Amino acid sequence: MFGRSPEGTYRWIPWDAYPWLEHGFGTRHAPSDLSRFTTLRQIHSAIVLDAGALPGCLGEGDALVTAEPGGCIGVKTADCVPVLVIDRRQRVVASVHAGWRGTVQRIAWRTARHLIEGYGSRASDLEAVIGPGIAGCCFEVGPEVAVQFTSLLPDRTDLDGRTRIDLAEVNRTQLLEAGLPASQVQGCGMCTVCQVEDFHSYRRDREHAGRMISYIGLKKENGRERWFAP
Ligand SMILES: [Zn+2]
Repeated sequence: MFGRSPEGTYRWIPWDAYPWLEHGFGTRHAPSDLSRFTTLRQIHSAIVLDAGALPGCLGEGDALVTAEPGGCIGVKTADCVPVLVIDRRQRVVASVHAGWRGTVQRIAWRTARHLIEGYGSRASDLEAVIGPGIAGCCFEVGPEVAVQFTSLLPDRTDLDGRTRIDLAEVNRTQLLEAGLPASQVQGCGMCTVCQVEDFHSYRRDREHAGRMISYIGLKKENGRERWFAP
């Protein structure tokens, strides 16, 4: 149930039911201008920061949360997995940059817990959508990376050698562990490496890879924010 918006992002169509919400998962065809969003200097950490409504770089970290109408938070990716989370009752939103290092540090779980403990969200009110990143078809890693997933993938016996890891699935598991109902955690099934026409990919394009912006924002009352306006 993903659709394309006029500006070239992918949108999770069921979220159109929330008139207060705006979001998009970046593609190579969407604008990559960050100036309208609150962003982070992303360092592959598990740091979650609270943003208000002011655009600009807030500091170092890899997940942002805002409850402020007019606020719009964004993450940059090119293979790492973008995750957007909403509290549909209290109107709080989060954006997460989950590469393999952030995933190992459980950033998706930490972000959900941040909403629950810091904002009083009920897990049953949270919805998450896991956007396009490098998928299990293409994320082949050596044992030095694979072994770091041992506690996250306790059933796997092949983590001491070259293997493939599905980062979206690991992030999904973390969100379920944080208490989100399974029906409220959606994946997209897209792969940034395979879908050349749609996505930048660091693994495929190396230093030539661009970056894509995934964003989520809270509209003001009766407002028509144009975060992507030319
Ligand atoms: Zn792939």
